[in-house]
Amino acid sequence: MSHNCIFCKIIKGEIPCTKIYEDPEVLAFMDIGPVVKGHTLVIPKAHHNPLMDTPPEILQKLITVVQTIARAQKKGLEADGVNVSQANGAAAGQVVPHIHFHVIPRFTTDGFHGNWIPKKYDSLGEMQDYADRIRKALD
Ligand code: 5GP
Ligand code: ZN
Repeated sequence: MSHNCIFCKIIKGEIPCTKIYEDPEVLAFMDIGPVVKGHTLVIPKAHHNPLMDTPPEILQKLITVVQTIARAQKKGLEADGVNVSQANGAAAGQVVPHIHFHVIPRFTTDGFHGNWIPKKYDSLGEMQDYADRIRKALD
């Protein structure tokens, strides 16, 4: 754990989040600033950063959960596609220095062209509704 890390605080329950999936090593939860609604983050419960210094066995667990979430977004949200993105270092656009994968559901009409503009949910209820639909479609 890293004391000033936002994602470590989420794991410890000190900052609330809308969970999608959890196991002993990995947590998936809704991004509060979705580039497309349904945008989910997948993180290890142990603090690692960046990708280059993360143990391969942790990466294997993360990418397996990324696949599970991507499948659930396709099924539960009826997404037309899914983007997976991961940044390392401020120069790459990383803001939170705890390794994470962005899993972003894509719709033919979503207007996202790689321009990283965080959106807002209309309400907490709307975010929870997206989360429910993804969660119910988990394998
Ligand atoms: P990065 O730019 O580091 O790749 O992405 C960090 C992501 O974390 C951003 O998409 C941002 O919206 C999200 N984020 C930052 N703080 C919080 C938070 O407190 N809760 C949640 N759920 N997401 C957060
Ligand atoms: Zn951390």
